[in-house]
Amino acid sequence: MGQFVPEVLCRFDDLATSVVVDAVLKFQSHKMNLNHQPLDPADWKSIRSVLREFRDLLKWLDPTKDAERINQVYKETFDNLLHLRAPFRNTLSFTDDKKIRLREHFFRFMKFWDPNSGFTIRECSRYSREGNRGAALFATRAFKKGETIEGLKGCLAPMTDAEENAIVVVGKNDYSILIRFERRNGCKSTLWLGPAAFINHDCKPNCDLIHRTNKSWIEATRDIRPNEELLMHYGKDCWGINCIECECRTCELGGNGAFTNAATCAPKPQSIPNLRNFKKRRSQEEKFPILSILFISHLKKSKRNQLNSPTTASKKENRHLIAQKPQKGDKFFKTLL
Ligand SMILES: [Zn+2]
Repeated sequence: MGQFVPEVLCRFDDLATSVVVDAVLKFQSHKMNLNHQPLDPADWKSIRSVLREFRDLLKWLDPTKDAERINQVYKETFDNLLHLRAPFRNTLSFTDDKKIRLREHFFRFMKFWDPNSGFTIRECSRYSREGNRGAALFATRAFKKGETIEGLKGCLAPMTDAEENAIVVVGKNDYSILIRFERRNGCKSTLWLGPAAFINHDCKPNCDLIHRTNKSWIEATRDIRPNEELLMHYGKDCWGINCIECECRTCELGGNGAFTNAATCAPKPQSIPNLRNFKKRRSQEEKFPILSILFISHLKKSKRNQLNSPTTASKKENRHLIAQKPQKGDKFFKTLL
């Protein structure tokens, strides 16, 4: 997984997702820049046409035999996207080195539409904290327990306290931050973006982010079937104490987390996560070195308000909403591009 300067990673990620993800899913996915301007729908249409051609070309190529041609298709597709100009108007001053790094970042996201990558991205309506409109990653082939999900990359950018203060707005763009229990090179927080950052949380996950010295990758922690959502566990108490606000499918099926009967399990205001709570908790949990990394996830204000005055009706409403908007399956994948 590549390492970045936080400001550059934010910029690259916002641009790549606005082109490669948003144009196909037809809504604006999460952005680090809170003032990010979505592209014009006419640009989305042109982008979809370029990405459709990309997918059609790769469909006939064999990764074991045609690696050079595949690489060429990636480069040609990126050049075709550049010709659209509008999405890239703010990159004209980039140095050649920066342009190459931007292209590499696009390549990571273009894997979503590569029929041989083994994974793709789809719209997801499960989570109220993102207004029931977000994204989820799905396997497009089987993975064995212990297998690395090759090509699914996350990008790390360690942040100093000053960088964290300048970039992160609590409840707005703090959806993907890793916290180390020990400060490294003056940094305790690390921004984690790139395609792998779209993996959603589940209390019974099927993959994990594995760390070794200077290397991280996504690994299947059990056998994964084609068309199954890729899910990881974000960490203990990531959705409030005992994950009381968790909206994952496992919690829904088990009547736990946000699906617990609110009358018997009303969350207390102090259980609602925020940056300060996490900072407190992170110092408490330093006693447990096994947990070396913790995800911070925060709730949007609307969700906080709902949780401050929980009612059985609101929980039922929430469950109803999810039942009304099931995950989209094969049909969606086939008609995307
Ligand atoms: Zn859960």
